[in-house]
Amino acid sequence: MTTRKLIVGNWKMNGSLAANAALVQAIGQGLERAGAAVTVAVAPPSVYLAQVGGLLAAGEEEAGQCRATVALAAQDVSAAPSGAYTGDIAAAMLRELGVRYVIVGHSERRKYQGESNAVIAAKAAQAQAAGLTPIACLGETLEERDAGRALAVVQEQLQAVLEHEGVNGAALVVAYEPVWAIGTGRTASPEQAQEVHAALRAQLAAALGESAARHVAILYGGSMNAGNAAELLAKADIDGGLIGGAALKAPDFLEIIACAQ
Ligand code: PGA
Repeated sequence: MTTRKLIVGNWKMNGSLAANAALVQAIGQGLERAGAAVTVAVAPPSVYLAQVGGLLAAGEEEAGQCRATVALAAQDVSAAPSGAYTGDIAAAMLRELGVRYVIVGHSERRKYQGESNAVIAAKAAQAQAAGLTPIACLGETLEERDAGRALAVVQEQLQAVLEHEGVNGAALVVAYEPVWAIGTGRTASPEQAQEVHAALRAQLAAALGESAARHVAILYGGSMNAGNAAELLAKADIDGGLIGGAALKAPDFLEIIACAQ
């Protein structure tokens, strides 16, 4: 278990210049009241990374050291370092914009872009080579859970990342996001989530050693909100949250952050 919780807002394909500015401002103001005991990041669509990075930097300068800083995260990265990959964005480019974390392997990309475990692992390696922290997403579908395969599925997904050349498992963030809980309003119970997180922690310990595994943040994602965050974040192996819908409303996002203090 990591000591400092990590709360990441995944904005998905939402926002506008005006809406982003309002959201960043509201989050910044809320954090001034909340204090600095939690690591917070937001992941806007890539076209807004420069805008949001600028807003975060300006807000921090104004607020000084008295509140949590908000790190910039990206939602995806190319599996290649550079070259003829139309539409892709290289890890080094993200880094240049001040990005610190990048989500890889979100289930929406696995589903709509057909991303395989191997591609996702290559993305994690690219991210780390550029000095970014990948947030590797894992999760089973409802059919897989009903078939009793939830643990096997997420462990296979994690193993692909851990075994990939160039990936430093100790410098990963892992996010368990059961597909059936994403955007559905249906959350894994704290016990269901903890069971999977504990299994992932054991897998990390087998690969990296107990001490390194304890320092890998394992986030929960899937309809985490202001009402259920406290219970989920109280579990021993839940080190933070990857928040979708509730990250678009500043009061909800701030409430989740408050639960993580
Ligand atoms: P949700 O999304 O909180 O809207 O369920 C979480 C995610 O997909 O990262």
